[in-house]
Amino acid sequence: MAHRAFARDQFAVSEAVNVSAPVLILAYVVILLGALVGLSIYYELRRKQFEPRPSEDHIFRCGKCGFVYTDDPDVDRSRCPHCGRLNEAIEF
Ligand SMILES: [Zn+2]
Repeated sequence: MAHRAFARDQFAVSEAVNVSAPVLILAYVVILLGALVGLSIYYELRRKQFEPRPSEDHIFRCGKCGFVYTDDPDVDRSRCPHCGRLNEAIEF
């Protein structure tokens, strides 16, 4: 009788392992994916903090010597660093 009870307990333990192992793997994968998504969002936010500079600055193209340069976004007209001609900002 005691042997039978032991065998049933063993079965219950192995069944519990069989059920919990895929759950553990699933939880591991979900945590890994979540970490990956969180990391990519973190790097995307970091990238956006540093990269929008080119579109914020005004771009100028000198009408005299053709030199292309950028200046602060708060100025409408900027002097060419090559020849000193005052140029209008290029609008896209
Ligand atoms: Zn110029």
